[in-house]
Amino acid sequence: MLHKNEREDIYNIPWYALSANRLIATLGTLKSEINCDICVVGGGFTGISAALELALKGFSVTLLESRSIAFSASGRNGGQIIRGFAKGIGWMTSKYGASDAGFMNKVTMEGLALLLNRISTHGIKCDLKLGHLTAAMNKHHIADLRAEKEAWKKIGYDDLEMLDERAVQDIVKTKSYIGGLFDPKGAHFHPINYALGVAQAAQKAGCRIYDETQVLEVIPGEAPKVVTAQGKVNCKFVVLAGVTNVKGAEILARRSITATAHMIATEPLGLRRARNLMSKDVAVSDARFIMDYYRFSGDYRLLFGGNCNYSDMDIPGQDERLRQRMTKIFPAMRMVRIDHCWRGPLDLTVNRMPDVGRLTPQIYYAHGFGGQGIIATNIIGKILAEAIGGQAQRFDVFAKVKHRDFMGGDLLKRPLFVAGMTWFKLKDLG
Ligand SMILES: Cc1cc2nc3c(=O)[nH]c(=O)nc-3n(C[C@H](O)[C@H](O)[C@H](O)COP(=O)(O)OP(=O)(O)OC[C@H]3O[C@@H](n4cnc5c(N)ncnc54)[C@H](O)[C@@H]3O)c2cc1C
Repeated sequence: MLHKNEREDIYNIPWYALSANRLIATLGTLKSEINCDICVVGGGFTGISAALELALKGFSVTLLESRSIAFSASGRNGGQIIRGFAKGIGWMTSKYGASDAGFMNKVTMEGLALLLNRISTHGIKCDLKLGHLTAAMNKHHIADLRAEKEAWKKIGYDDLEMLDERAVQDIVKTKSYIGGLFDPKGAHFHPINYALGVAQAAQKAGCRIYDETQVLEVIPGEAPKVVTAQGKVNCKFVVLAGVTNVKGAEILARRSITATAHMIATEPLGLRRARNLMSKDVAVSDARFIMDYYRFSGDYRLLFGGNCNYSDMDIPGQDERLRQRMTKIFPAMRMVRIDHCWRGPLDLTVNRMPDVGRLTPQIYYAHGFGGQGIIATNIIGKILAEAIGGQAQRFDVFAKVKHRDFMGGDLLKRPLFVAGMTWFKLKDLG
């Protein structure tokens, strides 16, 4: 086993990167001292969304990304565009009250509309398709999905449809599920192509993008400074977008831990073979805490994710593990070729809610979107831009959510986390 810092990256290139539209032209590595209104750190969904909205408001914006646009979770995910948060609306209501929980969840419906609007306004070619199914594997799941449907109805979204075993099996040709909840407004897409389209729109609105530029430190003050290996940005505001590893933001690192999620892309199956697995091009995830999720790509590969590793060690053989999970659902996939296998980080907080706020009046942050962040990152990027523009009411609701450090300090944080997640894995089996 190799430690994360030692391992080779050869078997870790997401299929999305290999099938991306032509990459955008960036300014490369920042090698000088520059000035701007706002420096956004991180070129994932949170960062590009905030950068676009801020540039559209007329601010001069610089975005710094350590690798390339959507290099990390935003370019490695399942591409499933799902309303809400990792924590269900029922749990959120009990914790934050009906008003705040209702508001935060409704905002994700606005986030969905924002994504669709950007895709059409900027002509982003990203294989967008509508429809998401949450599949139930037992009676507890059915009860949970019924409660979820009711909770969404209460806040004004009444399009969710409970499906019985037969109706689910009409969509997914497997005996694994006994029912499900269908969301006609859920969707899926090619995440890197979406990200590149948004980044390009931000550039058109005036945002300067530097990639291969690792931020080392953020120095607070009336005019904060963002320090990179070879350059510096003097600005009025900083946005740390999905970024917790910089000097000056240690509190965010203490409140965050990463799990590693894995995905495979099969060979292209062709329409006929694909239709033997699913009658529609919808995205599917099951209702377990540690779930399987899958969908077809634009060229009819099955993109399948599910295995999560909490140990920070690189455990080989993830492609075979995922094949086994896929074959449990679709026995006919036993012999199919797996063309790509990759991993990506899930940035988790203790309560699994995104951590949104200000470190100082000038330094904003948002991270901790976990495994359900496509919509949330995009809309919270917009809400960060609103707050910097002087409209902080919506930002304040998210900033009110309390977060705490993971227990155990540097030494015991990881082992305690692994022990906790083992309990959840056992719960899924029960
Ligand atoms: C395998 C997998 C499957 C998933 N499936 C789904 C799904 O189907 N649906 C869903 O809704 N969500 C899914 N997610 C979650 C979703 O992808 C994330 O919640 C979301 O992409 C997080 O976006 P972000 O902008 O906060 O972070 P990131 O995408 O991680 O962006 C942060 C960026 O900052 C850069 N960076 C880091 N440190 C620095 C630094 N010091 N200086 C400069 N740049 C830096 C990184 O390179 C990165 O590009 C999945 C995640 C994974 C890993």
